[in-house]
Amino acid sequence: MIIAIDGPSGAGKSSVANDVAKKLGFSCLDTGAMFRAIAWKAVRKNINLSDEDGLEQIAIHDKIAFVHDNNPRYKDIYIDDDKITDEIRTPEIDRAVTPVCKHAKVRKALLEQQREIANSGNYVVDGRDIGTVVFPNAELKIFLTADVEERANRRFLQNNKEQDYDYILEDLKRRDYEDSHREVAPLKAADDAIILDSTNMTQEEVVEKICNLVN
Ligand code: C5P
Repeated sequence: MIIAIDGPSGAGKSSVANDVAKKLGFSCLDTGAMFRAIAWKAVRKNINLSDEDGLEQIAIHDKIAFVHDNNPRYKDIYIDDDKITDEIRTPEIDRAVTPVCKHAKVRKALLEQQREIANSGNYVVDGRDIGTVVFPNAELKIFLTADVEERANRRFLQNNKEQDYDYILEDLKRRDYEDSHREVAPLKAADDAIILDSTNMTQEEVVEKICNLVN
C-alpha cells in the first residue's frame, strides 16, 4: 500500500509521515531529501545548477542510500560514500534545491528510484508530486497544508527562534510560488486527494485523522 502525502514546505509532512508510518508499521520515503542530495552533490562538484545534463548524471550514477536503524523515515542519508544527513538541511541547500528540482531529466531519474524503493513494501511517501505523478494510483492521497504564517511560526519555534521570523516567512512564500509555478510536476493536490488543513490542528490530530482514513 502507498500513502501519498503532498503539500507545501513547512506543512509538517515529514513528521506526520514518520508518525503515521510508525503507527501502521509502514516504511517512509522522504523524496525531498533525494532532491536535496542531488543539490548537495552538485554544489560539492561545482556543477552549474542550470546544467540539466550534468545534474541528470548525478541523479543516475550517484547512489542515494537511506539508513533506517528502526527509524521509519531515516536516521542517516548518504550519497555515494558521503553522509549528508545534516549537510542537506542548510540555507545554502534550501536555495540550491529549487533550480535542481525544476529539471525534467533530474525528476525522471529520481522518479524511477522513488518507485523502485516504495514498491518494495508498504510505504508512506511525502513530497510535492507523489499523488499526481509518482504514484497516481496510491491507495490514499493526502494534501497537507496550513496557512503560510502558521507554517513560518512552526519553523521559527522548531529552530529555537534562532532564525529571523520574517526571513522564514519570505522564504516559505518564495518556495510556495516556485513549487506551484514550475513547468514539470508542480505542487498541486491530486483530484482524488483529501485536503487536510492543519492550521488549527496538532500534529497528533493530523496523524490520527490519516490513520483513521487508512483503516
Ligand atoms: O520537502 P523538502 O523541503 O525537503 O524538499 C526540498 C525541495 O525539493 C523542495 O523545494 C521541493 O520543491 C522539492 N521537491 C520536489 N518534489 C518532491 C519533493 C521535493 O520538487 N517530490
